[in-house]
Amino acid sequence: MGQQMAWIIISLAISLLLTWLFGIWFGMPILGIIPSIAIFIGISYYMRKRAMARMGMGGGGGGFGGMLGGGGGINYICIACGHRFKGGACPRCGSKMRRADF
Ligand SMILES: [Zn+2]
Repeated sequence: MGQQMAWIIISLAISLLLTWLFGIWFGMPILGIIPSIAIFIGISYYMRKRAMARMGMGGGGGGFGGMLGGGGGINYICIACGHRFKGGACPRCGSKMRRADF
């Protein structure tokens, strides 16, 4: 989850840098915001898709919940035994069949 936070900070930094660069390029800082926002949205969309793929969810609006709940870490519920845990696989039975619990 720290990695996701780092990515958000990196994409923000890139956006700010591009705002500055495009602002100089166009001589109008307000125009630099447009491509920066596009890039920022692109990166956050990519990160959300990656997070969703890692959760093993087939869509269903889980992405937004994942973004909001990302700060404290996402809990999973093992489908095989019902154990609640954090991380990749169930520590009780070792199953990777899990669903996110918000
Ligand atoms: Zn289990």
